[in-house]
Amino acid sequence: MPENDSFLERSDFHRTILDQLNEGVYLVDRQRNIVYWNHGAERITGYSSAEVVGSSCADNILIHVDDAGRSLCNIACPLEFTMGDQQTREAAVYLHHKQGHRVPVLVRTAPLRDDAGRVIGGIEVFSENRDQSTLSEEIETLRRLALQDQLTEIGNRRYTEMALQSRHSEWTRYGWTYGVLMMDIDHFKGFNDTYGHDIGDRVLKMVATTLASNIRIHDTVGRWGGEEFLVVLEKITPMELAARAERLRMLVAASGLTLHDDPVSVTISTGGSLASANDAIEDVVKRADMLLYQSKESGRNRCTIEQAK
Ligand code: GH3
Ligand code: MG
Ligand code: MG
Repeated sequence: MPENDSFLERSDFHRTILDQLNEGVYLVDRQRNIVYWNHGAERITGYSSAEVVGSSCADNILIHVDDAGRSLCNIACPLEFTMGDQQTREAAVYLHHKQGHRVPVLVRTAPLRDDAGRVIGGIEVFSENRDQSTLSEEIETLRRLALQDQLTEIGNRRYTEMALQSRHSEWTRYGWTYGVLMMDIDHFKGFNDTYGHDIGDRVLKMVATTLASNIRIHDTVGRWGGEEFLVVLEKITPMELAARAERLRMLVAASGLTLHDDPVSVTISTGGSLASANDAIEDVVKRADMLLYQSKESGRNRCTIEQAK
């Protein structure tokens, strides 16, 4: 090993610190042989330390290219320049990942000196230069598009089905009972006919917001269909289910838009069921739907809740 061995091998202490960093860090000796490669570098490039330590960084490993696509290794290696003039440098380049793709990175290079001040090598620190905030915002937007109902801004049917699946698997695994409330706005066709579709939309949003604002933190509400909502309630007893259904019914009836000084409101009918032995998700939802129908039959603006079996 070259003369910088003493610095690089001085203690595990430096390695331990460097391995904690998110950034990639590598050290080269005066001949640009890689003598150290941290965990961050492994993660960002896909190359393990064992694969690169001992080879020259000009050996077609990273092959940094600049914005113009020029390979910097032989013409403008920032590490080479830094070791030459002892100036630190920063550059936005693209490195070659082991899988073949190009990764945008910001590199910073600095010379390494021995105790007498002689340059014995160089250090390059690089971090991914992807705009992470854009990426996560994009994922958040996609998630919203996939799972959020555009009109009411609560979860859509897919989202509600996911909640049902989670509650159902907790039920089969741990025996945590869950309940569902199927709700349907009463005489909504007539409401639209009277007030118009746009006001109908505003009312749908109002009902959704009332429901979403008044469920417990671990419960879920979603728009199941046109003017139907499904609430999924975790770890619930029949009595609690009945009480919550009734409270939500009352709160919807007590919500209202004010149009030209006239309060405009709607009511909902509800059917509630609880998971019981050998139920599939569809069975629980179907029973809630049948009980909702009973609420409609017996006069609307009411709840019909299944008793424990
Ligand atoms: P019931 O009490 O028996 O439920 O009567 P209903 O009139 O609510 O039932 P029906 O199923 O006949 O009508 C549902 C209505 O809901 C018809 C449809 O125009 C309205 N609706 C469904 N989705 C929307 C929507 O996104 N916006 C608006 N404004 N109305 C909707
Ligand atoms: Mg309906
Ligand atoms: Mg209806």
